[in-house]
Amino acid sequence: ANDLNSTDPQLFSAVVEELVRQETHIELIASENYASNQVMSLQGSQLTNKYAEGYPGKRYYGGCEHVDTIERLAIERACLLFGADYANVQPHSGAQANAAVFMALIKPGDTILGMSLAHGGHLTHGAAPNVSGKHYHAVQYGLNIETGEIDYQEVERLAQAHQPKLIVAGFSAYSRIVDWKRFRDIADSVGAWLMVDMAHVAGLVAARCYPSPLPHAHVVTTTTHKTLRGPRGGLILSALSDETLYKKLNAAVFPGQQGGPLMHVIAAKAMAFREAMEQDFIHYQAKVIDNAKTMARVFIRRGYDIVSGGTDNHLFLVSLIRQGLTGKAADAALGRAHITVNKNSVPDDPQSPFVTSGLRIGTPAVTTRGFGEKECETLAGWICDILDVLAKNENSDNIEAWVRFNVSELCARHPVYGDHAQHPAA
Ligand code: PLP
Repeated sequence: ANDLNSTDPQLFSAVVEELVRQETHIELIASENYASNQVMSLQGSQLTNKYAEGYPGKRYYGGCEHVDTIERLAIERACLLFGADYANVQPHSGAQANAAVFMALIKPGDTILGMSLAHGGHLTHGAAPNVSGKHYHAVQYGLNIETGEIDYQEVERLAQAHQPKLIVAGFSAYSRIVDWKRFRDIADSVGAWLMVDMAHVAGLVAARCYPSPLPHAHVVTTTTHKTLRGPRGGLILSALSDETLYKKLNAAVFPGQQGGPLMHVIAAKAMAFREAMEQDFIHYQAKVIDNAKTMARVFIRRGYDIVSGGTDNHLFLVSLIRQGLTGKAADAALGRAHITVNKNSVPDDPQSPFVTSGLRIGTPAVTTRGFGEKECETLAGWICDILDVLAKNENSDNIEAWVRFNVSELCARHPVYGDHAQHPAA
């Protein structure tokens, strides 16, 4: 693809800059990861050329015999990996997987109960600007402010008061183990469906490092690109033996929400599911959690509050309320030091969602590039060094430059793709 430089230098240089950024900056965004070369090459393959509306064996287009094999492999592997009886591998994204489940199980105007965005839920769990909040009557639960953990009594109270047709459990920013069974008991007590969106912890669940929601939820959704480390995409699973439910879910994905499936992405999902069955992947997920615990401990030692006091998974939230710092300022300063995090609201946040008083920190990406507890301890120390200076309202240029230099050295010692980078000039 050397030609990209001559045919489209503008596009070429932006792509190269992004590859360089990924290699030279430390990625702590909890929802990001680095997919394998196999996953990326399937995603960039000729399979992108094929239309295959429908499902294996029942397509609306000819020439689907090989993509049928690919989709069947992806389905079989997803079921095996997660202990499911049913999988739909076609959702283009996590948001579309969630929208399809709502479409399959409930009607516009029905009540749903999900975790609020401000307390760690996802946009698609009933937030006002999303279809889940616009087309359904969304009631939202949150955390107990004192403990920073999900307030199950509040969930129960809201369920009794509002009689939702569907309850959503799952999160984008929560560092503790969710009691999936408790959610199912609450759903059963009001006759609601339980949908678990395990997008953030799917890789941990696959490796048996986090409790699986499959035995408890009626339907489970996930993305395939976070801890699971596959291509960007969505997935719907169920462990119920219920052909009627499968039919409803399939019809809601296609033709309900989508047209033709992305066969190149489905092939890459099949590869990611295979990778997730390997011993290395299990070790990787255990290290992701160890690294997150190690980083959280450093923050606590240095006087920073962690929401809920620690972590059981791949992420945690640092509350900067006590330091009087905003997530926005902290995020910007760390960015200048080539450490990428995201600002995040924390419980009882005095700041708006655009400013916030917190940071969300996750270890899936740094663990993939080979950081162990030693590197994570050092890294958390650098972050605290920067935050300490900001908290004193002092100029942070020097500390940012010092950390930036150390970050570049550490990144050079832990290349993401190294010589195997899918460089457009390669
Ligand atoms: N569900 C959860 C819990 C998420 O955290 C996310 C993304 O961050 C999504 C769904 C949406 O996934 P996508 O960005 O693929 O639509």
